[in-house]
Amino acid sequence: MLSFEGEKSQGAYNSADRRVQSRYSGVYMIPFLDLKRQHASIRTEIDEAIARVIDSGQFILGEEVEAFEEAFADKVGADHAIALNSGSSALHLAFLAAGIGPGDEVITVPMTFVASVATIGYTGARAVLVDIDPRFYTLDPNQIEAAITPRTRAIVPVHLYGQTAELEPILAIARRHGLLVIEDVAQAHLARYRDRPAGSLGDMGCFSFYPGKNLGACGEGGMVVTDNREYARTIRVLRDWGQDGKYNHVLKGYNYRMDAIHAAVLAVKLRYLEKWTLARREHAARYDRGLADSGLVLPKVMDDARHAYHIYATLTPERERLRRELAERDIQTNVHYPTPVHLLPGYGDLGYRAGDFPVAERVAREELSLPLFPEMTEEQVDIVCQAVREILK
Ligand SMILES: *Cc1c(COP(=O)(O)O)cnc(C)c1O
Repeated sequence: MLSFEGEKSQGAYNSADRRVQSRYSGVYMIPFLDLKRQHASIRTEIDEAIARVIDSGQFILGEEVEAFEEAFADKVGADHAIALNSGSSALHLAFLAAGIGPGDEVITVPMTFVASVATIGYTGARAVLVDIDPRFYTLDPNQIEAAITPRTRAIVPVHLYGQTAELEPILAIARRHGLLVIEDVAQAHLARYRDRPAGSLGDMGCFSFYPGKNLGACGEGGMVVTDNREYARTIRVLRDWGQDGKYNHVLKGYNYRMDAIHAAVLAVKLRYLEKWTLARREHAARYDRGLADSGLVLPKVMDDARHAYHIYATLTPERERLRRELAERDIQTNVHYPTPVHLLPGYGDLGYRAGDFPVAERVAREELSLPLFPEMTEEQVDIVCQAVREILK
C-alpha cells in the first residue's frame, strides 16, 4: 500500500518492448515519480552513509541525527531543527509545544493531505477550516478573520504543491489577533516567500521526509524548525518520551525519534536538494511552455515567490478522461487530492458539508498532477505535453 508505482519503472521509456510489457505489468513508460533513478545517481554515498550507521551501532538519535539537524537548520535559515520520525509527528509536537489542547481552535485548509487536519485533532483541539485561494490553492487570507473566535490559537498555512501560502497577510492577521503561525512545509522544501525560506517565516515550520517528498528518506522522517528556544526544547523532550535526561520524564511524551540511518541518508540527499529543486523548476517551466495552449489551467506563481514544484498541479473539467487516456499512453498521473478533508468519511465529526468550501471542492474534482521529478528528461516532459495536447484538442 505504501509502495510507489513509479518505482516499478525500469526507466526504458523509449523502448517499444517495454511499452508492450507495460500494458500488462502496470509499469509506466513515464512514471509519476522514479525514486530508483534518484538513488542510483548517488548510490555510493548512500551505501557509505548506511554502512557507517550500521558500523557505529548507534541507531536512534545520536551524532548522525544531530549533524542532519544542523545542516537542515542552516539550509532553511532557522536557529533550531528537531528531527522526528514523520511530518505528522512534527505537526503534532509543534501544536503541543505551542500549548494547544482541548477547547482550542486551529485554522487550516480542507485541501491538503489529511495529516494537516488530523494532527490538530490529536491534541484535543478543533480544526476550523477555511477555503483556499482559487489562483494558488493555498489558504485564502481574505477568509481567515471570519473564522477567528476567542478560542482560536493558531493558523496553519499549508504550502500546497510546493508553493508557500500568501504569508504576509496571514502573518499580519496572526499578529493582529495574537495567534501563532505554524507552517506545514511538508511539500515545500527550499520554496521561498519574499526571499525567505519556507518554514522560517512562522513561529514553527513542519517538514516531512516521506520518500516521495522533495527531500525523502528511505523510510519515514520529519522535522520542526523554529527560532524559539523554548519550543525547540519542549519538542526535543516530547519526541523522546518526555525525558529530560535518562528516565527523568518531565512531560508525558512520545516515541517520535528519528533513526540514524534516515538522518545519514537525508544528510547526503540534502546536499543535492538545491540542484534537484532547480531541475524540478526547469521541468515545470518546460510544461508551462509546452501546455500554454492546451486548455489546461496551469500552476500560477505568486510575485516574489519561489515554487518548489513538489507537484505540477493542473486543472481541467475533463480530468477523468485525460487521466484515463494518458494512462493508455503509459503516462502515469495522480490526483492531489480527490476528496477535500471536510468530505472524508473519517472526518464527518468536523461538522462540515458539501458546498462549504467551493474552491477546494472544485480543485478536488478537476486537479490532475502530471509526472514531475528531478531525474525526468526533457524528452519525457515533451512526450507528456504532446499527449495532453492531442487528447484535449
Ligand atoms: C506528507 C504530508 C504531511 C505528513 O507527513 P508524513 O511525513 O507523511 O507524516 C503533512 N502535511 C502535508 C501537506 C503533507 O503533504
